[in-house]
Amino acid sequence: QAELLRVKNLVRRYELRSGLFSRQQRYIHAVDGVSFSLNRAETLGIVGESGCGKTTLSRAMLRLVEPDEGEIIFRGRDIRSLTKEELRRERRHMQIVFQDPFGSFNPRMTVRELIDEPLSVHSRDSAAARLERVREVMAKVGLDPRLCDRHPHEFSGGQRQRIGIARALVLRPELIIGDEPVSALDVSIRAQILNLMKQLQEESGASFVMVSHDLGAIRFICHRVAVMYLGRVVEEGRTEDVFREPLHPYTRGLIDAVPVPRLRPGKTRQLLTGEIPSPVNPPRGCHFHPRCPLALKQCNSVAPAFNEVGGGRRVACHLFAPTGGIDTPAPVPVE
Ligand code: SF4
Repeated sequence: QAELLRVKNLVRRYELRSGLFSRQQRYIHAVDGVSFSLNRAETLGIVGESGCGKTTLSRAMLRLVEPDEGEIIFRGRDIRSLTKEELRRERRHMQIVFQDPFGSFNPRMTVRELIDEPLSVHSRDSAAARLERVREVMAKVGLDPRLCDRHPHEFSGGQRQRIGIARALVLRPELIIGDEPVSALDVSIRAQILNLMKQLQEESGASFVMVSHDLGAIRFICHRVAVMYLGRVVEEGRTEDVFREPLHPYTRGLIDAVPVPRLRPGKTRQLLTGEIPSPVNPPRGCHFHPRCPLALKQCNSVAPAFNEVGGGRRVACHLFAPTGGIDTPAPVPVE
């Protein structure tokens, strides 16, 4: 499969001052050395609790916030090295669907103007051809094209998210990032929008990065999943593998926190305890060690490397020895 996106050691810090007149600088490492890749026509989920850095990561991938370090290789070019004009042109291939599209819409614009806006910026098509495309994409996302001259406030929450998706799709981008695209919606509408996104991804062949704290949504849509904790990816693998057999103790706690009607015989739960530590002063070594029921002696001083452990999976945990290859079988607990 051809690779569309490769993110290498991405870092984004936010500067904090400890007091109004203090000269002491402190930083939140919102994204702290994240690496992953995404193939064409593939969907990657980025999951974690709020504050883990996933929203900053989604914006940094598009340079909506500027990363401090690292590379973002998109369609073979590092988009961090692009000039403003080159980046503007490249943006037609990468679009984002926000959690609350209403908040990002200009309320004075009609739906037609909102969906047409990216086209009018990036394409040289005539107004008639663009209107045709707006109608086509509205129908594709399940909106009646005859309503294109209405304003977003005349639509329900689910319909507004369909408008947001139509706006992202209208340029036929190669990459779509969904930033918690269903978390503001009612449960029944959520399922409809997830079905729509899955169908559109399969039809369009675009690659998706879906950022969410909603494990069910990620499991439904994504081929692969990366789990984030305090700015770092701690586990990555095929979605079904990770959900069936989570390796990192944090992933296990996250998955075990989802209520299930009946536990499988012999299966126990390992629930997360304690608060997420402050990202201003994250714990040394493995960031998860104060909450980890399996912590080893070295965990509070040595940060685990993010290693291949077999079966196309990567884990950042001292319990798992690297295999150095993806074909080797089960991970080996370290004594
Ligand atoms: Fe737990 Fe140590 Fe693994 Fe971190 S590295 S998850 S503290 S066992």
